[in-house]
Amino acid sequence: MLTSILDGFDVQPLADMKASINGPHRLRAEAMRCLFCKAPSDAATSVEHVIPQSLGNSQVVLPRGMICDPCNNYIARKIEQPLLAHESFRNLRAWYRIPNKRGRHASLFGVIPGLDIGVNFRIGQEGPELQLERGGDAAAIHAHLKGAGENGLTAILFPRDMRPPEREMSRLLAKIALEVFALRLSSASAEVERLIDDPHWDRIRRWVRVGDNADHWPFHMRQVYPEETLMTHPTSGDWVQAGYIIDLLLTRRREHYIVLIFYGYEFALNLGGPSIKGYEEWLEEHPGISPLIERLGLRLEAEADATRLIGQPSLQAGVDFDLAQRVEGLWDE
Ligand SMILES: [Zn+2]
Repeated sequence: MLTSILDGFDVQPLADMKASINGPHRLRAEAMRCLFCKAPSDAATSVEHVIPQSLGNSQVVLPRGMICDPCNNYIARKIEQPLLAHESFRNLRAWYRIPNKRGRHASLFGVIPGLDIGVNFRIGQEGPELQLERGGDAAAIHAHLKGAGENGLTAILFPRDMRPPEREMSRLLAKIALEVFALRLSSASAEVERLIDDPHWDRIRRWVRVGDNADHWPFHMRQVYPEETLMTHPTSGDWVQAGYIIDLLLTRRREHYIVLIFYGYEFALNLGGPSIKGYEEWLEEHPGISPLIERLGLRLEAEADATRLIGQPSLQAGVDFDLAQRVEGLWDE
């Protein structure tokens, strides 16, 4: 039943992951229902990306029909777009030139200290370009630049810290959590039906699809390695920037967490309810490690020129690790 770890690295995720999504284990064609709203979804035309395409994921997708079109559109508009436009993700995408789904690169968002004016910076065909974020500020910025001092220089700050807006980030993690769960079960349609019907998951479903059933659904966030960390590409063997790693974690208390590492930032969210105590407990019990690094058989090596993740994430390593804690299987008994 525990079938696959999703891992997407910069360039492309494991080829066999794609095969297991689209290949031999298609869901039965009749009577599909949406994972979020439970409505019939056989007619769905859009493909749902587990990690947004504009964060570098092109291949980890749900089989067509697992999410209905209205839910797919709602999630894109209300959760993904505001998050991707926020300076935390926008500047990370711009900095590392992660293209969006149309192949375009985000511009870097900056502010001029002392002025409440946003600017954006991109390398265009003609060279560096600086534009105002909104129209109407041109007079103020010209006045500021004129008075910028003897050498005519002024500073522009490009915020590069990861502080995503909490509500949208939480709902994105909740969405990813249910989808990773469904993907893991997608080889057995009865298990997917169970995930859809079991009222235990209705709370997180509603948090994603409507968002009115909690003021606050906290997630845990920390940096576990530098953004520039390298790892070997699973098929080519080349050193590439480590993009994302993702897996579900079941704790001794049988709480389900989604854990996602994105460019070194590790996020964790509880699928069962708005508390991360159980995750903090896991971290206390396993000091200094991450569920997606050491538990999956990876090792971090800091060298003078770069930090490297050594190895490939292994499902078996994670299963063995969990069994040693007497934690078995994703479902409650
Ligand atoms: Zn739906």
